[in-house]
Amino acid sequence: MSKQLTIAIDGPVASGKSTLAKSLADALGYLYFDTGAMYRAVTLAALQRKLSMDDQAAVEALAREVHIDLRPASVADGRLYDVLLDDVDCTWDLRTPDVEAHVSQVSAYPGVRTALTEQQRRIGLRGGVVMAGRDIGTVVLPEADPKIFLTASQEERAQRRFEELRARGDSTSYAEVLESLKQRDAYDTSREVAPLRAAEDAISLVSDGLQAEQVLERALALVRERQAQLATGT
Ligand code: C5P
Repeated sequence: MSKQLTIAIDGPVASGKSTLAKSLADALGYLYFDTGAMYRAVTLAALQRKLSMDDQAAVEALAREVHIDLRPASVADGRLYDVLLDDVDCTWDLRTPDVEAHVSQVSAYPGVRTALTEQQRRIGLRGGVVMAGRDIGTVVLPEADPKIFLTASQEERAQRRFEELRARGDSTSYAEVLESLKQRDAYDTSREVAPLRAAEDAISLVSDGLQAEQVLERALALVRERQAQLATGT
């Protein structure tokens, strides 16, 4: 049997990380773990408790206190997994515009990152995991192998997100989607703690013009190559 790898997939908003990470995990029989869902869950918890997002100490304390669990999808409603916040299913609540508007601010707080990174690391080190996020290869699991940095142009990513929203009946315009994506990119790449960037040994995959299946094929080829190298000790 091949060694159970720990695979990191990082990349910006709407780069297709979740789709790739889920399909890669399914193809390999691994666990798919989306770290973005954890940052969204802390943001949702702060909104539910009506905390001020500017109250850094309170948001950091909350991140240490809440219990977030990711489990295989229990309902066939398009979800890729279940997220439980203090034992209550909050999977779709994580995708609301309110959460989207505040999650970058919440995830820039060092105390929030420390609390969540510890949990992510513990899960990743077990192996047999595809972990997706912004800082998996650089901070959470520098030992992950292989590390994939998935990206695409801002226009292509905005177009994908726009189509997703339209399919869900949301009437946000393409221009608004592009603007919000640019803002989140700027925030995620410029924050002081764990900014979004490719690890030195990450392999870049650019998905412009590619279908999800083609991205999966390329990622699977990388994984198989790495498994073969490990099997022969190279
Ligand atoms: O990937 P997703 O869009 O669900 O992530 C939501 C937000 O959580 C990102 O915009 C980013 O600010 C933050 N995040 C992060 N580090 C991660 C994953 C997500 O800062 N590892």
